[in-house]
Amino acid sequence: MSVPGQTLLLIVADGVRPDVLRDELAAGHLPRLAARAERGVLTEVSSCFPSVTGPAYAPFMMGRFPASVGLPGLRWYDRARSVASWPSYARSYVGPEIRLLDDDLHLDAPTLLELATPSVAGSTLLGRGARGVRHPGRGWAWAARAFLPHFRGDLMGWRRVEQLVVDRVLGHLRRERPQFAVMSFLTPDKFAHAFGAASAEVRASLRDIDAFVGEAETIAARGGWADQLHVWLVADHGHADVQRHDELADGVREHGLRVLSHPKVWVRKPDAAVMVGGNAMGHVYVELPHRQRPWWPALDARWTEMHDALVARESVDLMAVAVNAQTVRVSHATRGSALIVRDDAPAAATRDGSRTGAHRWSYRFETGDPLSLGRELHGATGEEAHAACASGDYPDAVVQLADVVPSPRAGDFVLSAASGWDLRDRFEPTPHRSTHGALHREQIMVPLLLDVVPTRAPLRSADVMPSVLARLGLKIPDGLDGRSFLG
Ligand SMILES: [Zn+2]
Repeated sequence: MSVPGQTLLLIVADGVRPDVLRDELAAGHLPRLAARAERGVLTEVSSCFPSVTGPAYAPFMMGRFPASVGLPGLRWYDRARSVASWPSYARSYVGPEIRLLDDDLHLDAPTLLELATPSVAGSTLLGRGARGVRHPGRGWAWAARAFLPHFRGDLMGWRRVEQLVVDRVLGHLRRERPQFAVMSFLTPDKFAHAFGAASAEVRASLRDIDAFVGEAETIAARGGWADQLHVWLVADHGHADVQRHDELADGVREHGLRVLSHPKVWVRKPDAAVMVGGNAMGHVYVELPHRQRPWWPALDARWTEMHDALVARESVDLMAVAVNAQTVRVSHATRGSALIVRDDAPAAATRDGSRTGAHRWSYRFETGDPLSLGRELHGATGEEAHAACASGDYPDAVVQLADVVPSPRAGDFVLSAASGWDLRDRFEPTPHRSTHGALHREQIMVPLLLDVVPTRAPLRSADVMPSVLARLGLKIPDGLDGRSFLG
């Protein structure tokens, strides 16, 4: 049974790093958020791989890792020809195809917007369950408003559009008190790319968020439901400075291949598809006529040379291939390679109904320790695998790589960029001084602000979704990757 009269407002601070939020709270610039954190907690959790807007919304909106619900990246190639259309069979959620993201998701995985109704979404990249007026910021009329600011790189124009969305979400709070509302602030990410993740512009955009919380509180107080308004804040990904941009597609062309990559997806008989998003993460697909992905042993003889050449590229940090549906091989140019294996756990271990509870992870050195964990893992639980990676440069990498690399829509080569690098050089409307998408700590770790004290430490942004349901007294579905941190 739901708890009557509760409203949970989830704020997505797109691309806001935990340290930047913490600084601004400590400086007294965000009084409403600070008061909320005072009652609860400000902590950090790991997001997912790829750490990029769109896919990285799946954890907190669905409690699932993105590849497991059909979103292996911001851009991906539809080898199965299941949802993307002729002639390119490529997807990019940058631009008009964002409207297709909700339909690309697996139907058996519900969103918070579907479970906690009535619900409202403001500018949320993953918005299944909120349509029409319930999703300001989405649809052709909003796309027309945002088109020029986006392609001119006009960030203040973008902010004006965002403030219109904020007004619509507040209007819903005033009129009907939805049970669940999510408002995504995308300006911090846009400012971070252009000016840096800790820039004055990003910090100023946090004050827009604080003002929004203040207005929501005023509406609740006037309506007599101030005590039933809960405000949480999470981010989808972090950010890291970037100085050098590699055009990964050119790196694949060097092997004599005809390459399909955005925005030039009209290629006759392509040999490979290069799908970069973030821009510090990329998928490379080969042998495109096959509608079912081949596992690495079937590709090995023909593609070893390109595999090794890509690993050796200065811009590439980690590269992973799927040996089979349970096994990933991850490689680093100097630290060597290791195998990650995900097994099903014995039935007794799966009582909490979660997907992560149903699996065990191993990490075995092959020629080295590419993730720099310092030790192997054998049959680790989701918590143990998280803890093994928690203090290093690749938070939750074992679980994340095992999820994305063998997923049906992933590339045959999955790449995570080296520090200071990303994997796209041309065709970006906004200059990139900061980047994300990769497995690095600065890009994976995100802030989590709660106005309630959790009963166990939140680990992943995927824990947010079941916790929202718990806070609202709603049933938590089985098969999630996240676990509630409330009771
Ligand atoms: Zn971004």
